[in-house]
Amino acid sequence: MKKIIAVYPGTFDPITYGHIDIIERASVIFDEVIVTIALNSSKKPLFTEEERKAMVLKAMKKFKNVRVDSFNGLLVNYAKDVNASVIIRGLRAISDFEFEFQMSLTNRKLAPDVSTLFLMPNEKYTYLNSTLVKELAAFEGKIDCFVPEFVVKKLKEKFKK
Ligand code: ADP
Repeated sequence: MKKIIAVYPGTFDPITYGHIDIIERASVIFDEVIVTIALNSSKKPLFTEEERKAMVLKAMKKFKNVRVDSFNGLLVNYAKDVNASVIIRGLRAISDFEFEFQMSLTNRKLAPDVSTLFLMPNEKYTYLNSTLVKELAAFEGKIDCFVPEFVVKKLKEKFKK
């Protein structure tokens, strides 16, 4: 039987419990989930590709059917290259909707056989994003309820410099 592969793209700067929640849900649905770090995003990441990848890898250790990768260029081309038929995105609130809707319809136009699937995290993560975590970390705010311990440590190191 054909393996159903899903890609979960993002900046993951850094990975949070919100991302992990979505990955956990996707890993139950699909044969394989590829968490893939977008390298040509317009965002200016705090962490390098290697740092982000290392944190995602650590967070994914317990998932047997999840692998970690990165990509440049168009997401739909990447999805085709890795034989993925699904793109996973997280939906937290209505504020995510407009941009995500536009992106998913554009991707569908470019690649009609790749579908976007939106998953909602546990409600306790609906207001969480990586930017908020970085802002808190910069001012030594408490972040251990938002990111794993090893991410707390990496953020502390970054802001000490
Ligand atoms: P991007 O630059 O692609 O938005 P992010 O790392 O910010 O990269 O987010 C990747 C995906 O994870 C997006 O679909 C985003 O909506 C989702 N996401 C981010 N934070 C959360 C969260 N707290 N709960 C659920 N989904 C989230």
